[in-house]
Amino acid sequence: MKAIVVGSGAGGAVAARELAQNGFEVTILEAGKPFSPLSHMISWFSSLRGSWLLKDENSIEHIFPHYEVTHSSQDLHIFRGVTEGGCTSIACGNMVRAEYGLKEIGLNLSAEFEEIEKSLTINPIPREKWRPLTQHMYDIAEYLGYTPKPTPKVTDLGKCIGCGYCELGCVTGAKWDSRRVYKDLIGKGITLKTNSPVKKVLVEGNRARGVIVTQGLTSDRINADVVVLSAGGVGTAQILRASKLPARDKLWVDVVLTIGGVSKNSKMLKEPPMAWFIKKDNYILSPYFDLLSYWFHKPWKNVAIEDRVGMMIKLADTEQGAVAADGSITKSLTEKDYEGLEGAKVEAKRILEASGVTGPFVDGMIHGGHLGGTVPLTKEDVETMHTSWLPQDLWVADLSLMPRSQGLPTMLTTAALSLRVARKIIKERLIKR
Ligand SMILES: Cc1cc2nc3c(=O)[nH]c(=O)nc-3n(C[C@H](O)[C@H](O)[C@H](O)COP(=O)(O)OP(=O)(O)OC[C@H]3O[C@@H](n4cnc5c(N)ncnc54)[C@H](O)[C@@H]3O)c2cc1C
Repeated sequence: MKAIVVGSGAGGAVAARELAQNGFEVTILEAGKPFSPLSHMISWFSSLRGSWLLKDENSIEHIFPHYEVTHSSQDLHIFRGVTEGGCTSIACGNMVRAEYGLKEIGLNLSAEFEEIEKSLTINPIPREKWRPLTQHMYDIAEYLGYTPKPTPKVTDLGKCIGCGYCELGCVTGAKWDSRRVYKDLIGKGITLKTNSPVKKVLVEGNRARGVIVTQGLTSDRINADVVVLSAGGVGTAQILRASKLPARDKLWVDVVLTIGGVSKNSKMLKEPPMAWFIKKDNYILSPYFDLLSYWFHKPWKNVAIEDRVGMMIKLADTEQGAVAADGSITKSLTEKDYEGLEGAKVEAKRILEASGVTGPFVDGMIHGGHLGGTVPLTKEDVETMHTSWLPQDLWVADLSLMPRSQGLPTMLTTAALSLRVARKIIKERLIKR
């Protein structure tokens, strides 16, 4: 039985592994190149800050081509990892359960969460490895009545050098990413093809029969019994649209805005990002040196790297973005999103100020990188985990399935969703045999 899995991020990796371990001959088709971290070139890169080479956020694509930046509107940038490992290769390594909206559709992923958590080593970064200011801000937040918690991380503490550059890849290999999930099965049930962007799904009758991969001017047809789309909230919707199949205009991105302040010699970049977090109803607050704003965002320019302090707001946004067949994204912030950000900004500033961080307090670049919601699961589809409006043998196993935005890290939830989908595929195929 042949299966194609499109994408090697959090969803694709788990689906590929599960299918291969259950007798499928799996080909992973990954649009991006093999991943290599940028961290080793970082001091050279930082010295270019302010030059024409780093003139705006799009410049990062030239220097670190694993990132893709899209302006979805005047006020919002969308970032994603197009590379082996997808967004997990450029993630901060935070690992929490994000479950908003699941109860409403009757989906309980506790068993999958537990199974995945058991297969990984998840620990917070010990307090003594936080910068002194991060420790102080934690204590002050507690004093102010918040309940900060150390962030669970998939980071091997023995290997982590606390360089702070997790989102540019991990040079020491301390940080988990989804490539590890299928690595031991390459050549033993899984074939991985990088630089293989899937253009569309081939549908005959009401069945998926394979995909078309386009490289430059050449197109290849690859046949399969089962096609699993795990190209992420944007990639999966793009492929569906290009295949003349529907996707929903419900893209959410978990909007990030980091408030920048100043504290002399705080050296916040010399620790893993987001060492602790405060969870509110629809957002989190977390100490974070926003590299993208430091490099590209004009209001952040006049403060030296060792003095810049950031408090991140990660907000669950309104699910109303659209992805077109050419990959272009239309999404702006709604009034409700702005209101949410304004409220969270007051809290972020309160903690910063009470911790002795001084102004001018400046907003960072507004961006999002948790991409979901374009093939949202409904109550009716939870039993089969197959989207009812898609042809047979075409499945989705990534964050596109998540109906609600989270304002929380999303790798674990994506992996759990994908595990559930893969097991449904296996069960369905066993019945058909
Ligand atoms: C900078 C950043 C930091 C993050 N940090 C964290 C964190 O610390 N913790 C956390 O839980 N979450 C984090 N996230 C979010 C998390 O990584 C994603 O939500 C999660 O990886 C989503 O999994 P996915 O499988 O849906 O998509 P992805 O992981 O994005 O995988 C999609 C894959 O499909 C490939 N693809 C796309 N289109 C095609 C195509 N046409 N053909 C073939 N392949 C294609 C992509 O290259 C990619 O490899 C972060 C995201 C970003 C952007």
